[in-house]
Amino acid sequence: MILKDYSKNLIPFLADREPDEAGPDLKDVSRKCLIPEDKIAVLSRNENPYGPSPNVWKALKDVPLNRYPDPRPFMKALSNYTGYPKENIVAGAGLDEVITNIVRLFLGQGDRALIPVPTYNLYGLAARLCGALPIYRPRLPCFEVDQDVPEGIKMIFLCTPNNPTGNSLSEKSARAIAESAKGIVFLDEAYAEFAESNLLKLVRDYDNLVVGRTLSKAFGLAGMRLGYAVAPEWIAEQYRRIAPLFSISSLSLVAGVAALQDLGYMKESVSKIVGERERMRRRIEAFPSEGNFLYIQTRERSNLVAERLLCQGIVVRDCSNFPGAGEHCLRVSVGTPEQNDRFLDAYAPGCSAPKP
Ligand code: PMP
Repeated sequence: MILKDYSKNLIPFLADREPDEAGPDLKDVSRKCLIPEDKIAVLSRNENPYGPSPNVWKALKDVPLNRYPDPRPFMKALSNYTGYPKENIVAGAGLDEVITNIVRLFLGQGDRALIPVPTYNLYGLAARLCGALPIYRPRLPCFEVDQDVPEGIKMIFLCTPNNPTGNSLSEKSARAIAESAKGIVFLDEAYAEFAESNLLKLVRDYDNLVVGRTLSKAFGLAGMRLGYAVAPEWIAEQYRRIAPLFSISSLSLVAGVAALQDLGYMKESVSKIVGERERMRRRIEAFPSEGNFLYIQTRERSNLVAERLLCQGIVVRDCSNFPGAGEHCLRVSVGTPEQNDRFLDAYAPGCSAPKP
Protein backbone atom coordinates (compact mmCIF):
# COMPACT_ATOMS: atom_id res chain seq x y z
CA MET A 1 0.00 0.00 0.00
CA ILE A 2 1.26 3.46 -0.86
CA LEU A 3 1.14 5.88 2.07
CA LYS A 4 0.53 9.41 0.89
CA ASP A 5 1.23 12.44 3.02
CA TYR A 6 -2.15 14.07 3.32
CA SER A 7 -0.97 16.15 6.27
CA LYS A 8 0.27 18.88 3.91
CA ASN A 9 -3.40 19.83 3.58
CA LEU A 10 -3.48 21.00 7.19
CA ILE A 11 -3.58 24.73 7.87
CA PRO A 12 0.05 25.85 8.42
CA PHE A 13 -0.13 27.10 11.99
CA LEU A 14 -1.05 23.65 13.32
CA ALA A 15 2.58 22.63 12.81
CA ASP A 16 3.73 24.50 15.92
CA ARG A 17 0.85 23.44 18.19
CA GLU A 18 0.60 20.62 20.67
CA PRO A 19 -2.73 18.88 21.35
CA ASP A 20 -4.57 20.57 24.21
CA GLU A 21 -4.90 18.34 27.23
CA ALA A 22 -7.29 18.56 30.15
CA GLY A 23 -4.38 18.55 32.65
CA PRO A 24 -2.56 15.50 34.05
CA ASP A 25 -4.31 12.15 34.14
CA LEU A 26 -5.17 11.66 37.82
CA LYS A 27 -4.75 7.88 37.54
CA ASP A 28 -1.11 8.41 36.44
CA VAL A 29 -0.49 10.90 39.25
CA SER A 30 -2.01 8.49 41.76
CA ARG A 31 0.20 5.62 40.58
CA LYS A 32 3.37 7.68 40.37
CA CYS A 33 3.00 9.50 43.67
CA LEU A 34 1.26 6.74 45.67
CA ILE A 35 -1.67 8.98 46.55
CA PRO A 36 -5.28 7.71 46.20
CA GLU A 37 -7.00 9.41 43.25
CA ASP A 38 -9.71 10.93 45.44
CA LYS A 39 -7.07 12.60 47.63
CA ILE A 40 -5.55 14.55 44.73
CA ALA A 41 -6.41 18.24 45.01
CA VAL A 42 -7.10 19.58 41.52
CA LEU A 43 -6.44 23.31 41.86
CA SER A 44 -5.54 23.95 38.24
CA ARG A 45 -8.79 24.66 36.41
CA ASN A 46 -10.52 27.35 38.44
CA GLU A 47 -13.46 25.07 39.12
CA ASN A 48 -15.93 25.61 41.94
CA PRO A 49 -15.31 23.00 44.66
CA TYR A 50 -18.89 23.27 45.96
CA GLY A 51 -20.67 22.34 42.73
CA PRO A 52 -24.08 23.63 41.68
CA SER A 53 -27.27 24.31 43.64
CA PRO A 54 -28.96 21.08 44.84
CA ASN A 55 -31.98 22.22 42.78
CA VAL A 56 -29.99 21.35 39.66
CA TRP A 57 -29.98 17.65 40.54
CA LYS A 58 -33.73 17.66 41.17
CA ALA A 59 -34.46 19.42 37.88
CA LEU A 60 -32.41 16.96 35.83
CA LYS A 61 -34.71 14.04 36.60
CA ASP A 62 -37.52 14.95 34.22
CA VAL A 63 -35.72 16.10 31.07
CA PRO A 64 -37.14 14.58 27.87
CA LEU A 65 -34.12 13.24 25.99
CA ASN A 66 -35.85 12.21 22.76
CA ARG A 67 -36.52 15.85 21.81
CA TYR A 68 -34.11 18.48 20.52
CA PRO A 69 -33.32 21.06 23.19
CA ASP A 70 -35.43 24.20 23.67
CA PRO A 71 -33.11 27.04 24.72
CA ARG A 72 -35.90 29.57 25.42
CA PRO A 73 -36.34 29.00 29.19
CA PHE A 74 -32.56 29.31 29.63
CA MET A 75 -32.46 32.52 27.59
CA LYS A 76 -35.29 33.91 29.72
CA ALA A 77 -33.42 33.00 32.92
CA LEU A 78 -30.29 34.72 31.57
CA SER A 79 -32.36 37.77 30.72
CA ASN A 80 -33.64 37.94 34.33
CA TYR A 81 -30.15 37.47 35.71
CA THR A 82 -28.40 40.03 33.50
CA GLY A 83 -31.20 42.58 33.24
CA TYR A 84 -30.89 42.61 29.42
CA PRO A 85 -33.66 41.61 26.97
CA LYS A 86 -33.25 38.31 25.16
CA GLU A 87 -32.43 40.17 21.92
CA ASN A 88 -29.09 41.09 23.52
CA ILE A 89 -28.18 37.60 24.71
CA VAL A 90 -26.49 34.69 22.92
CA ALA A 91 -25.47 31.37 24.43
CA GLY A 92 -23.27 28.39 23.64
CA ALA A 93 -21.69 25.21 24.94
CA GLY A 94 -19.39 27.00 27.36
CA LEU A 95 -18.00 30.49 26.99
CA ASP A 96 -15.30 28.87 24.86
CA GLU A 97 -17.85 28.14 22.14
CA VAL A 98 -19.32 31.62 22.41
CA ILE A 99 -15.84 33.15 22.01
CA THR A 100 -14.99 31.09 18.94
CA ASN A 101 -18.34 31.95 17.34
CA ILE A 102 -17.95 35.68 17.98
CA VAL A 103 -14.40 35.64 16.66
CA ARG A 104 -15.66 34.00 13.46
CA LEU A 105 -18.05 36.89 12.93
CA PHE A 106 -15.27 39.44 12.77
CA LEU A 107 -11.86 37.94 12.02
CA GLY A 108 -10.62 36.66 8.69
CA GLN A 109 -7.34 36.12 6.85
CA GLY A 110 -4.70 38.68 7.81
CA ASP A 111 -6.86 40.64 10.29
CA ARG A 112 -5.20 41.81 13.50
CA ALA A 113 -6.45 41.10 17.02
CA LEU A 114 -4.99 42.86 20.07
CA ILE A 115 -4.42 40.65 23.13
CA PRO A 116 -2.87 42.15 26.29
CA VAL A 117 -0.88 39.29 27.85
CA PRO A 118 -0.71 37.22 29.93
CA THR A 119 -4.36 36.31 29.54
CA TYR A 120 -6.68 33.43 28.61
CA ASN A 121 -5.03 31.42 25.83
CA LEU A 122 -8.14 30.76 23.75
CA TYR A 123 -8.31 34.29 22.28
CA GLY A 124 -5.07 33.86 20.34
CA LEU A 125 -5.98 30.37 19.20
CA ALA A 126 -9.48 31.40 18.05
CA ALA A 127 -8.00 34.34 16.12
CA ARG A 128 -5.38 32.18 14.45
CA LEU A 129 -7.95 29.56 13.47
CA CYS A 130 -9.64 32.29 11.42
CA GLY A 131 -6.35 33.16 9.73
CA ALA A 132 -6.00 36.34 11.81
CA LEU A 133 -2.85 37.58 13.49
CA PRO A 134 -2.86 37.92 17.30
CA ILE A 135 -0.85 40.93 18.47
CA TYR A 136 0.32 39.99 21.96
CA ARG A 137 1.01 43.19 23.89
CA PRO A 138 2.62 42.95 27.36
CA ARG A 139 0.59 44.46 30.19
CA LEU A 140 1.79 47.51 32.10
CA PRO A 141 2.96 47.32 35.77
CA CYS A 142 0.36 45.67 38.07
CA PHE A 143 -0.98 43.95 34.93
CA GLU A 144 -2.88 47.07 33.82
CA VAL A 145 -3.90 47.30 30.17
CA ASP A 146 -2.54 50.02 27.90
CA GLN A 147 -5.58 52.09 26.82
CA ASP A 148 -4.04 53.13 23.56
CA VAL A 149 -5.36 50.99 20.69
CA PRO A 150 -3.09 50.88 17.63
CA GLU A 151 -4.51 51.42 14.13
CA GLY A 152 -5.75 48.45 12.15
CA ILE A 153 -7.03 46.35 15.06
CA LYS A 154 -10.30 44.52 14.33
CA MET A 155 -10.81 42.91 17.73
CA ILE A 156 -9.49 43.50 21.25
CA PHE A 157 -9.68 40.87 23.96
CA LEU A 158 -9.94 42.05 27.54
CA CYS A 159 -10.48 39.76 30.49
CA THR A 160 -11.70 41.05 33.85
CA PRO A 161 -10.85 39.70 36.39
CA ASN A 162 -8.00 38.56 34.21
CA ASN A 163 -7.05 34.91 33.97
CA PRO A 164 -4.32 34.23 35.18
CA THR A 165 -3.27 37.50 36.87
CA GLY A 166 -6.50 38.08 38.85
CA ASN A 167 -6.67 41.88 38.48
CA SER A 168 -9.73 43.75 37.23
CA LEU A 169 -10.02 46.34 34.51
CA SER A 170 -11.34 49.70 35.66
CA GLU A 171 -14.55 51.06 34.17
CA LYS A 172 -12.60 54.12 33.06
CA SER A 173 -10.08 52.03 31.08
CA ALA A 174 -12.79 49.85 29.54
CA ARG A 175 -14.69 52.95 28.41
CA ALA A 176 -11.56 54.60 27.05
CA ILE A 177 -10.71 51.49 25.03
CA ALA A 178 -14.27 51.01 23.70
CA GLU A 179 -14.40 54.68 22.66
CA SER A 180 -11.03 54.83 20.93
CA ALA A 181 -11.22 51.38 19.28
CA LYS A 182 -12.40 51.12 15.71
CA GLY A 183 -12.84 47.38 16.18
CA ILE A 184 -14.89 45.10 18.45
CA VAL A 185 -14.04 44.86 22.15
CA PHE A 186 -14.62 41.44 23.71
CA LEU A 187 -14.74 41.75 27.49
CA ASP A 188 -14.46 38.33 29.14
CA GLU A 189 -16.16 38.34 32.55
CA ALA A 190 -15.96 34.60 33.25
CA TYR A 191 -15.05 35.40 36.88
CA ALA A 192 -17.29 38.46 37.39
CA GLU A 193 -19.26 37.02 40.32
CA PHE A 194 -16.09 36.78 42.44
CA ALA A 195 -15.24 40.46 41.88
CA GLU A 196 -16.38 43.60 43.71
CA SER A 197 -18.01 45.01 40.57
CA ASN A 198 -18.53 44.21 36.90
CA LEU A 199 -18.87 46.03 33.60
CA LEU A 200 -22.02 44.46 32.19
CA LYS A 201 -23.79 47.81 32.09
CA LEU A 202 -21.33 49.03 29.45
CA VAL A 203 -23.05 46.97 26.73
CA ARG A 204 -25.87 49.58 26.79
CA ASP A 205 -23.42 52.35 25.97
CA TYR A 206 -21.32 50.93 23.13
CA ASP A 207 -22.16 49.35 19.79
CA ASN A 208 -18.77 47.60 19.69
CA LEU A 209 -18.61 45.97 23.14
CA VAL A 210 -19.56 42.37 23.99
CA VAL A 211 -19.40 40.89 27.52
CA GLY A 212 -18.82 37.12 27.84
CA ARG A 213 -19.94 35.12 30.88
CA THR A 214 -20.09 31.49 32.00
CA LEU A 215 -21.91 29.23 34.46
CA SER A 216 -18.71 27.18 34.88
CA LYS A 217 -17.28 29.20 37.76
CA ALA A 218 -19.58 30.87 40.32
CA PHE A 219 -22.50 28.56 39.45
CA GLY A 220 -20.36 25.40 39.70
CA LEU A 221 -21.49 23.96 36.35
CA ALA A 222 -18.22 23.55 34.41
CA GLY A 223 -19.20 20.01 33.39
CA MET A 224 -22.45 21.23 31.83
CA ARG A 225 -20.73 23.63 29.40
CA LEU A 226 -22.89 26.74 29.61
CA GLY A 227 -21.64 30.11 28.42
CA TYR A 228 -23.30 33.27 27.16
CA ALA A 229 -22.60 36.77 26.01
CA VAL A 230 -24.46 40.04 26.34
CA ALA A 231 -23.98 41.91 23.09
CA PRO A 232 -25.39 44.86 21.16
CA GLU A 233 -28.49 43.69 19.31
CA TRP A 234 -26.83 43.91 15.88
CA ILE A 235 -24.03 41.55 16.95
CA ALA A 236 -26.39 39.09 18.68
CA GLU A 237 -28.46 38.99 15.52
CA GLN A 238 -25.40 38.10 13.41
CA TYR A 239 -24.34 35.48 15.97
CA ARG A 240 -27.64 33.65 15.53
CA ARG A 241 -26.89 33.29 11.82
CA ILE A 242 -23.79 31.18 12.41
CA ALA A 243 -24.10 29.46 15.81
CA PRO A 244 -25.25 25.83 15.75
CA LEU A 245 -28.88 25.78 16.86
CA PHE A 246 -28.63 22.86 19.28
CA SER A 247 -25.12 23.03 20.70
CA ILE A 248 -26.32 23.17 24.33
CA SER A 249 -27.84 19.87 25.47
CA SER A 250 -31.30 19.64 27.08
CA LEU A 251 -29.72 18.54 30.38
CA SER A 252 -27.39 21.54 30.43
CA LEU A 253 -30.19 23.98 29.63
CA VAL A 254 -32.34 22.64 32.47
CA ALA A 255 -29.37 22.71 34.84
CA GLY A 256 -28.69 26.31 33.84
CA VAL A 257 -32.25 27.41 34.56
CA ALA A 258 -32.25 25.71 37.99
CA ALA A 259 -28.88 27.28 38.88
CA LEU A 260 -29.99 30.76 37.81
CA GLN A 261 -33.10 30.41 39.95
CA ASP A 262 -31.07 29.78 43.09
CA LEU A 263 -28.87 32.86 43.31
CA GLY A 264 -28.72 32.51 47.11
CA TYR A 265 -26.76 29.26 46.73
CA MET A 266 -24.40 30.81 44.18
CA LYS A 267 -23.73 33.84 46.36
CA GLU A 268 -23.02 31.68 49.39
CA SER A 269 -20.50 29.57 47.50
CA VAL A 270 -18.86 32.72 46.07
CA SER A 271 -18.54 34.20 49.54
CA LYS A 272 -16.89 31.03 50.91
CA ILE A 273 -14.43 31.05 47.97
CA VAL A 274 -13.64 34.76 48.35
CA GLY A 275 -13.04 34.27 52.11
CA GLU A 276 -10.66 31.40 51.40
CA ARG A 277 -8.93 33.35 48.62
CA GLU A 278 -8.08 36.14 51.05
CA ARG A 279 -6.98 33.68 53.77
CA MET A 280 -4.61 32.00 51.27
CA ARG A 281 -3.28 35.34 50.09
CA ARG A 282 -2.34 36.33 53.61
CA ARG A 283 -0.24 33.16 53.93
CA ILE A 284 1.63 33.38 50.60
CA GLU A 285 2.88 36.32 48.61
CA ALA A 286 0.32 36.22 45.83
CA PHE A 287 -0.89 39.13 43.72
CA PRO A 288 -4.26 40.63 44.68
CA SER A 289 -7.05 38.71 42.92
CA GLU A 290 -10.71 39.27 42.20
CA GLY A 291 -11.19 35.78 40.72
CA ASN A 292 -11.43 32.31 42.31
CA PHE A 293 -7.68 31.81 41.90
CA LEU A 294 -4.35 33.35 42.88
CA TYR A 295 -1.38 34.25 40.71
CA ILE A 296 1.98 33.63 42.33
CA GLN A 297 5.49 34.51 41.29
CA THR A 298 7.94 31.73 42.15
CA ARG A 299 11.65 31.99 42.96
CA GLU A 300 12.39 28.71 41.21
CA ARG A 301 11.11 27.98 37.73
CA SER A 302 7.36 27.46 37.97
CA ASN A 303 7.40 24.10 36.16
CA LEU A 304 9.68 22.70 38.90
CA VAL A 305 7.44 24.01 41.69
CA ALA A 306 4.34 22.62 39.93
CA GLU A 307 6.04 19.25 39.50
CA ARG A 308 6.98 19.13 43.20
CA LEU A 309 3.42 19.95 44.25
CA LEU A 310 2.10 17.31 41.86
CA CYS A 311 4.19 14.68 43.65
CA GLN A 312 2.35 15.68 46.83
CA GLY A 313 -1.01 15.23 45.13
CA ILE A 314 -1.68 18.92 44.44
CA VAL A 315 -2.29 20.01 40.85
CA VAL A 316 -1.68 23.70 40.12
CA ARG A 317 -1.33 25.54 36.81
CA ASP A 318 2.21 26.28 35.69
CA CYS A 319 1.73 29.45 33.64
CA SER A 320 4.83 29.14 31.47
CA ASN A 321 2.73 28.34 28.40
CA PHE A 322 0.69 31.54 28.78
CA PRO A 323 2.31 33.98 26.30
CA GLY A 324 3.83 36.83 28.27
CA ALA A 325 3.81 35.09 31.68
CA GLY A 326 7.49 34.09 31.75
CA GLU A 327 8.76 31.01 33.53
CA HIS A 328 8.18 31.93 37.16
CA CYS A 329 4.42 32.09 37.62
CA LEU A 330 1.84 29.68 38.96
CA ARG A 331 -1.93 29.94 39.20
CA VAL A 332 -3.71 28.12 41.99
CA SER A 333 -7.48 27.82 42.19
CA VAL A 334 -9.24 28.31 45.51
CA GLY A 335 -10.51 24.90 46.62
CA THR A 336 -12.15 23.63 49.79
CA PRO A 337 -10.52 24.81 53.07
CA GLU A 338 -8.90 21.35 53.43
CA GLN A 339 -7.44 21.42 49.91
CA ASN A 340 -6.23 24.98 50.43
CA ASP A 341 -4.51 23.99 53.69
CA ARG A 342 -2.75 21.14 51.91
CA PHE A 343 -1.57 23.54 49.22
CA LEU A 344 -0.43 26.12 51.77
CA ASP A 345 1.51 23.53 53.76
CA ALA A 346 3.14 22.05 50.65
CA TYR A 347 3.93 25.38 49.03
CA ALA A 348 6.63 26.22 51.55
CA PRO A 349 6.65 29.83 52.71
CA GLY A 350 9.51 31.47 50.93
CA CYS A 351 8.76 29.80 47.58
CA SER A 352 7.16 33.02 46.38
CA ALA A 353 9.40 35.64 44.90
CA PRO A 354 8.82 39.10 46.38
CA LYS A 355 6.27 40.96 44.23
CA PRO A 356 7.73 43.54 41.84
N1 PMP B 1 -12.84 32.74 29.73
C1 PMP B 1 -11.96 32.61 30.73
C2 PMP B 1 -11.19 33.81 31.15
C3 PMP B 1 -11.78 31.39 31.36
O1 PMP B 1 -10.87 31.27 32.33
C4 PMP B 1 -12.55 30.28 30.94
C5 PMP B 1 -12.42 28.92 31.56
N2 PMP B 1 -11.27 28.54 32.06
C6 PMP B 1 -13.43 30.46 29.89
C7 PMP B 1 -13.57 31.70 29.32
C8 PMP B 1 -14.24 29.32 29.35
O2 PMP B 1 -15.29 29.02 30.16
P1 PMP B 1 -16.30 27.83 29.81
O3 PMP B 1 -16.06 26.76 30.81
O4 PMP B 1 -17.65 28.45 29.94
O5 PMP B 1 -16.01 27.40 28.39
